Amino acid sequence: MPISVAIVGSGPSGFYVAEALVKSEADVEIDMIDRLPTPFGLIRAGVAPDHQSTKRVTRAYERTALNECVHYYGNVELGRDISIDELRATYDAIVLATGMPGDSKLGIPGDEKQGVIGSATFVGWYNGHPDFKHLNPNLETENVVVIGNGNVAIDIARVLVKTPEEMVEADLPKHVADAIQKAPVANVYMVGRRGPVEAKFTNVELREMGHLHNARAVIDPADLPEEVTGDWSDRDRRLREKNLESLKEFAGAPDAEKQKAVHFTFFASPVEILGGEKVEGIRFEKTRVANGRAEGTGEFFDIECGLVIPAIGYRLQPIPGIQVDEERGTIRNNDGRVSEGVYVAGWAKRGPTGVIGTNKPDGKTAAAEILEDIQEGVKPGRAAFEATLQERNVRWISYTDWQQINDAEVANAPPGSPREKFVTVDDMLDLLAN
Ligand SMILES: Cc1cc2nc3c(=O)[nH]c(=O)nc-3n(C[C@H](O)[C@H](O)[C@H](O)COP(=O)(O)OP(=O)(O)OC[C@H]3O[C@@H](n4cnc5c(N)ncnc54)[C@H](O)[C@@H]3O)c2cc1C
Repeated sequence: MPISVAIVGSGPSGFYVAEALVKSEADVEIDMIDRLPTPFGLIRAGVAPDHQSTKRVTRAYERTALNECVHYYGNVELGRDISIDELRATYDAIVLATGMPGDSKLGIPGDEKQGVIGSATFVGWYNGHPDFKHLNPNLETENVVVIGNGNVAIDIARVLVKTPEEMVEADLPKHVADAIQKAPVANVYMVGRRGPVEAKFTNVELREMGHLHNARAVIDPADLPEEVTGDWSDRDRRLREKNLESLKEFAGAPDAEKQKAVHFTFFASPVEILGGEKVEGIRFEKTRVANGRAEGTGEFFDIECGLVIPAIGYRLQPIPGIQVDEERGTIRNNDGRVSEGVYVAGWAKRGPTGVIGTNKPDGKTAAAEILEDIQEGVKPGRAAFEATLQERNVRWISYTDWQQINDAEVANAPPGSPREKFVTVDDMLDLLAN
């Protein structure tokens, strides 16, 4: 009997596990399960809508999905439609590739106010993730504060200040594009606790901020050191030197005729969200960096704003029956092994770090561990899984169904854009019903 494998999550890490299993040429039957009808995880719902070239990695995933031993089951949620114990009884191996979909909280007074929206939620909204269709963020504000000094913070700032012409080739859903276009947002403050040298931007993303049509990158030259100091690996030092160079260019070319601004604000730690029920501003304490760590200086300043977007990290969605490593915030695992027959890959294994390709070795590891631990299939696999779903009236989405959804999205695309996304599960199901 083939070894039956259920991969829960069809983001990059799920696909890299499937790819490695397919390439092994072992006798396997692979079922990929995702809570959304649409595959590809954060490639669809996280990667910025104006960075379409990054999303092309899905072409390789599609080749895996179309392999004869792989079946896709979208619109099936572990924990809602089926439990981990049921999967254990059905499959020889289960790989949890469920990512880290939750937002880390700021943990400061006022962070529950209306208008504080974590980056996972905000990015999910502008990328048309069905969970966030009704978010309706307050964009009726001149100032937005994004907290964090990584690429996600840059993505958010860029999407908010690019012109409609610059977004023509993006796949923002129409209601999102309309909301952003008519918003009076003129300033996005991107605030980091530490300095420009410690910031985690990659240089391509940072440099792009110097070339936006109607938004200038603003930075206080006093925040920029002469050179990169500190204990960095050669690779890290080179990256930081490039970033410092880019920031110095921004500081030297203020570009006053552009109407919008992205303010790179360093050495500031958020201490309180201001306002009543809704956000009216945010208070920061100025910091200095000592031994790589930010410490408060006792000096404070406020930024008035109607929207605060913390882009400070992600949290696991706990799965009943699966232990969490509280310290690392991941599923507890020993290099991918969770318990007998259960494995983990990607963000759920390592935490929210690295680029898409960083998930590939995880995929290879999980596949190798499965094939090392299990020589032969003994559990019923696909047929039993489908029987359970049928019994529960779960309308699962096959890969062919997804291709139909994809074709309709492409056909509905406005000029220049690759697609107009369906942003509700019902709309996708209606399309398939008709
Ligand atoms: C905003 C943002 C922008 C990014 N931009 C880039 C970029 O430009 N370049 C780059 O290299 N990397 C980028 N990354 C990183 C990249 O997206 C991640 O490395 C990668 O997506 C992690 O893959 P994953 O498979 O572990 O998780 P995910 O991509 O999150 O996939 C997890 C999948 O599991 C599914 N799932 C979750 N829970 C369940 C459940 N209970 N039942 C069934 N299915 C479930 C989800 O629906 C999802 O499809 C970005 C990340 C973010 C957040």
